[in-house]
Amino acid sequence: MSPRATERKRARIPTPAKSAAETRQIMKRLGTQHPNADTELNFTNAYELLVATILSAQCTDQRVNQVTPALFARYPNAGVLARATTEELEPQIQSTGFFRAKSRSLVGMATELVETHRSEVPKTMDELVKLPGVGRKTANVVLGHALGVPGLPVDRHVLRVANRIGIAKSDEPEIVEQQLCAAMPPAEWTRTSDTLILHGRRICKPRPLCDRCVIRADCDFYAHLTRAVSTRPPMSKAQRTAAKGSRPTRGKKGRA
Ligand code: SF4
Repeated sequence: MSPRATERKRARIPTPAKSAAETRQIMKRLGTQHPNADTELNFTNAYELLVATILSAQCTDQRVNQVTPALFARYPNAGVLARATTEELEPQIQSTGFFRAKSRSLVGMATELVETHRSEVPKTMDELVKLPGVGRKTANVVLGHALGVPGLPVDRHVLRVANRIGIAKSDEPEIVEQQLCAAMPPAEWTRTSDTLILHGRRICKPRPLCDRCVIRADCDFYAHLTRAVSTRPPMSKAQRTAAKGSRPTRGKKGRA
């Protein structure tokens, strides 16, 4: 990308409601609610985490963890996996969904590691995203958790939670990644992602459990909700009666 194009792209990045200092404070407090936030995928090295993360697309980590022990035993490294066929791989990963595409990605990724990276997982974003089946999110997971390189994966939980709180402002994962990385020190990037993911899974679900959230005093979404409730005009007696009667009951309907 030319410097001018980069400049234009940067100029389009919206500024989140919270300042960098506020974001760091909020993440510190949120960390007290999820002190052991970490990836829930099981792995022992970068190759295994790369395989597990590719499998985790549209699938729960728990399901992936059920499949990977047998897979890692049979294909312990990129060299062995590169020699597998997609047909033999498919039934072994079928339960994780999208198994045909994932099989192609796994064999393609392993082949690329063997042919281009001496069977090692590369340590840069640019090299990782060139591997089949590896996007920015997967690359950041592997960089941050297995290679000791700061990375901030943005999945749907990070996207939802960060926007609700007001520490990010975009529905594009790459922009949210840039906003959070700008606010947090690199050493905190991976933990920031892990914490937001866990918060999104346990508390700030699509229907959020705000009464159990330690940062609700600083959350824009919560402030908006409570404002909406407090400014709603009280219902008249007639409205309350109508609201009560608006729930149909099967018995009355049947008799009508
Ligand atoms: S207060 Fe509610 S909406 Fe805000 S982060 Fe907590 S759970 Fe999510």
